[in-house]
Amino acid sequence: MRVKILGSAAGGGFPQWNCGCAHCGAVRAGTFQGTARTQTQVAISAGVDARFWFLLGASPDLRAQIEAAPELHPREGVRQSPIAGAVLANADLDHVLGLLLLRELQPLRVYATNSIRRILTEDNSMFAMLQRVPGQVAWTAFKPGATFPVINAAGEDSGLHCRAVSLGAHYPAYVSERRQGELASGEASLGLIVESPTGKRLAYMPAVPQIDDALLKEFESADVLLFDGTFWSDDELIRVQGSGKTARQMGHVPVSSAYGSLNVLAGLRRPRKIFIHINNTNPMLNEAGPEYREVRAAAWEIAEDGWEFDL
Ligand SMILES: [Zn+2]
Repeated sequence: MRVKILGSAAGGGFPQWNCGCAHCGAVRAGTFQGTARTQTQVAISAGVDARFWFLLGASPDLRAQIEAAPELHPREGVRQSPIAGAVLANADLDHVLGLLLLRELQPLRVYATNSIRRILTEDNSMFAMLQRVPGQVAWTAFKPGATFPVINAAGEDSGLHCRAVSLGAHYPAYVSERRQGELASGEASLGLIVESPTGKRLAYMPAVPQIDDALLKEFESADVLLFDGTFWSDDELIRVQGSGKTARQMGHVPVSSAYGSLNVLAGLRRPRKIFIHINNTNPMLNEAGPEYREVRAAAWEIAEDGWEFDL
């Protein structure tokens, strides 16, 4: 399986357009020790020579991310793309807005839970742009816990298999309370386990509200773990902006603290451990800082745009 990290920042990207925090300001001034990042996007295929690719989510930065990745450019004909579809882990804007950028009548298969599909296609009329002609986007439902083959719109098998792990009931703020009451519990926010044709496992977990024993077990059988690196501390946004929600209220376990991912996942030996979905306020982005050193000393990596690997 080939994995490409096209984007590695949380919603808003790094720097974020309206953010004047110390990090974003230093990136703009060219004095930051670290790299700018686009909003998180991962693409997967069965191997280097694979004919098609699937996206995990669809980032608002997708157009530029595709242009930056030659594998994802058209290969034959006037209208063609090796991008065959997407698997959605949640309905967050930074995870689904990119679908609207793929509206140019390319046949795609989009895998989502019924709840996520209903939020997008029944409550947000713009998504009708993906249903203008028959066979444009084939919405395909999956249930958490069930393994499904990843297949393109024409029915060709990518050789990859996927299984979603339910990570809780956190829906985006744009989903009304009334609507949330109508949706299935456990379909709001998911982690994705992708298995290669040779049985290698990628665990993609960009939004994890807490780490329990069942999740730890999943991680222990993974070869690569792409894990929620959104916030360093629970009150990070409140300290930077003066108001807002805690990391855990937003569905993200912080990296630091006793219940944080660095500590809780310290005993995890098998997978290569990589933080992704990193918010512009997270101090571990600063490679000159103690937080960056702490993460690296704990054998974690911090994803950057353009990273790719085989497993
Ligand atoms: Zn900032």
